[in-house]
Amino acid sequence: MLVWMPPISSAGGGGPRRDEDPKNQGDLLQTALTPESRTARRTTFAVNGSATDDLQKWFVEGVERELLGHNHARSEEGESPELVINVIDAARPRPFRRNSQGTFVVSVVQVEHEADDLLRAAYPVLVRSLSNLLIYLTKNEAGAKAHFVTLEQGVATVPLPDGDKTRFFAEVYRRLAPLASTRLVINNVFEANLPEELRDGNATTRSMYEASLWLDRMNLLPAAFPIAEILDERDMMHVRRLFGIGGLSYGNLSARHDRTSFWMSARGVNKGNLREIGRDILLITDYVPEDDAMVVSVPSGIEPRAASVDSIEHWMLYREHPGIGAIMHVHAWMDGIDSTLVNYPCGTFELANEVSELVRRQPDPSRTVIGLRNHGLTITGTSLEDIIQRIDGKLLPTVPMM
Ligand SMILES: [Zn+2]
Repeated sequence: MLVWMPPISSAGGGGPRRDEDPKNQGDLLQTALTPESRTARRTTFAVNGSATDDLQKWFVEGVERELLGHNHARSEEGESPELVINVIDAARPRPFRRNSQGTFVVSVVQVEHEADDLLRAAYPVLVRSLSNLLIYLTKNEAGAKAHFVTLEQGVATVPLPDGDKTRFFAEVYRRLAPLASTRLVINNVFEANLPEELRDGNATTRSMYEASLWLDRMNLLPAAFPIAEILDERDMMHVRRLFGIGGLSYGNLSARHDRTSFWMSARGVNKGNLREIGRDILLITDYVPEDDAMVVSVPSGIEPRAASVDSIEHWMLYREHPGIGAIMHVHAWMDGIDSTLVNYPCGTFELANEVSELVRRQPDPSRTVIGLRNHGLTITGTSLEDIIQRIDGKLLPTVPMM
């Protein structure tokens, strides 16, 4: 039978310990990973700014009612809210500067006309307001619409109703709820203890480099949105601090190192040229649930990059399935696959957990293709070569938006 590694690294408090009976490790892992204890409590929220336009005012009041109706409380004075509804003006999209990375910011803006290229018009507002999600309200003769614009450059449109606003706000809440009740695992603990013989990588990291060339050739690495062109230096610094990136980039890949650790592309790097250890490729060794942090082993004397926001998901998959040798994530789609039902944001514990459940249910968890709703694919394989062989020629470039 499989022997599971306990997921808690520093045995503080009542967490599972490494010396417990291995027969129970599966259950312990499940208990430690179960999201219930984290999400049963409803996220707190705050509204920042005030509406200047009629439609915007109506929308924000409706969202507040919906959140309160679902038992989300307003954050207390002096406490960091977990969800911020940031009400902004399109001409001057004032950013909400978070104190904590764990705060999700949803900005709401109203514009008079619906642009032909909606993403082109809305995306700079999303970035300038430093939001995780933008709700872009438009109005024309045909009626009003709420467009949900994501950092992955997805747009989903919900028309505003003439009559039934109960159903409309229920739909808005359904789209906000995944943000309003999730937990980001994007902190890093760096340990400068990478063994000297791995300083320049090994055969595994070279296979990642080869796979990154393939991704580039297949055009699976869409150009990052040129955010440096639309942000000033101060906001670029804020974005770098917030997301650990210099430009928003897409996709990632990883490969197993040993039973408990794996190599993974770093956050925000060019996935088409993965070379330098500690900068482009990181060795992920553990997860510390108390701090929502991934542990990364890096060479000494290097300023490391942040780990990919998806490393919590890969961590769960490698720990649970010893047969998984590599994982790839791309923003593309495939026919006939199982997909997550909720559009949890990248880097959340909840997304990782839902993907893990789907992988567990497949006939062979070490070779799966799982859809991430409105977002892309997570593909497991025995190696990166195995993954590429299985998906080559089968990927659809457009992710369906639901
Ligand atoms: Zn992604």
